[in-house]
Amino acid sequence: MANPTNLVGRAPWANVSDAEWNDWKWQIANRLRTVEDLKQAIALTTDEEAGVRKSLEHFRMAITPYYASQIELGNPRCPIRMQAIPVGAEAVHSPDDLEDPLAEDEDAPVPGLTHRYPDRALFLVTQICSMYCRHCTRRRLVGEKDAHITRDQFAAAYDYIRAHSEIRDVIVSGGDPLVMSDRELEEILSTLRAIPHVEIIRVHTRTPVVLPMRITEDLCRMMRNYHPVYVNTHFNHPREMTAEARRACSLLADHGMPLGNQSVLLRWVNDCPHVMKSLVHELMKARVRPYYIYQCDLSRGISHFRTPVSRGIEIIEALRGHTTGMAVPTFVVDAPGGGGKIPVMPNYVVSQAPGQIVLRNFEGTITRYRENPDVGSGCGLHDACRDPRYAPKEGPVAMMQPDGPMTIGPVPERKKRKHE
Ligand SMILES: *Cc1c(COP(=O)(O)O)cnc(C)c1O
Repeated sequence: MANPTNLVGRAPWANVSDAEWNDWKWQIANRLRTVEDLKQAIALTTDEEAGVRKSLEHFRMAITPYYASQIELGNPRCPIRMQAIPVGAEAVHSPDDLEDPLAEDEDAPVPGLTHRYPDRALFLVTQICSMYCRHCTRRRLVGEKDAHITRDQFAAAYDYIRAHSEIRDVIVSGGDPLVMSDRELEEILSTLRAIPHVEIIRVHTRTPVVLPMRITEDLCRMMRNYHPVYVNTHFNHPREMTAEARRACSLLADHGMPLGNQSVLLRWVNDCPHVMKSLVHELMKARVRPYYIYQCDLSRGISHFRTPVSRGIEIIEALRGHTTGMAVPTFVVDAPGGGGKIPVMPNYVVSQAPGQIVLRNFEGTITRYRENPDVGSGCGLHDACRDPRYAPKEGPVAMMQPDGPMTIGPVPERKKRKHE
């Protein structure tokens, strides 16, 4: 896929020195935030201008000059443009739209901290981003206030994590935590690192994509003091992997931070096996492991970005086996209502009988595999395998215990009627 050559580039900022351009604080201070800012940099059609004004009544806009410089001139379907510049469709609210599609607020024991999964928690430390993605899942919060969470909210979140020794993994997200100063970020990392049961810390940020100059030597040297620190970023299109973005990823990796990527499946941006294959290869070259592809959430005003779920399956089908497994992310639907991430993939099990299974590979070749007939569920070797205190209490794993429940899930109406 050839890269376009007619980008906006630095022309609208021709008088800006390299030193300013490469200074992340200059980039933040000079973000495009109004229709007038936008028109100075990029020609808008009258239609687009009306759309921008209308959607800005609902959601905020901010685009770093760096990210805007990557927009392709005259192409309304430019993937960078579509992620950054609002369109009239954002004012269209579909009946399926939800304010908080993942019920993150409901699962928050203290504001800003969502504890949904047994061993990890999501910590939203700020509502600010350097660039407001048009497809943001958290648009109910993000950009609403120009603020980080308050001192009291930080204190309550730390108390909760300290009191819950099952939390061994904390995801620092937002907003974008890397809009904070090195000092503010260090306070978060050092406080979390001082909690003995917090084994790993993850920082979730789009900064390498939209503000790569924020990834400085100083920042990386600070972060590496709190290892293991993982960084997950958010590239959606191979064109976002510029020389600047590659440098940012490289610096993080050189300081020992394992990098992952979470993409969102977006109509006309990346809902294409060819674009996704090119993206995962660009990521691998930059030492970033593709981690998740998300089905687009049901957040308000983003229905124009949604694709059928089958598009994600089609993409995985085109990746698995056709390129290294290290480059194949897990496609997930984050269940509306707070059910969490549900992986969805092509079917590889063709058939099954006791003692044997028939599978197909990526080429369509079908294979039989004969199983060892004497092996039951679980390994049974360890105390934890035999002691019912350690037995999982929920889901199919619980059902497969010797005295596990035969059915789980809701009681159908017809059964309820019988007992009346
Ligand atoms: C996605 C998510 C996590 C992290 O999930 P992983 O599969 O461990 O990356 C944790 N908490 C919430 C609420 C999430 O949405």
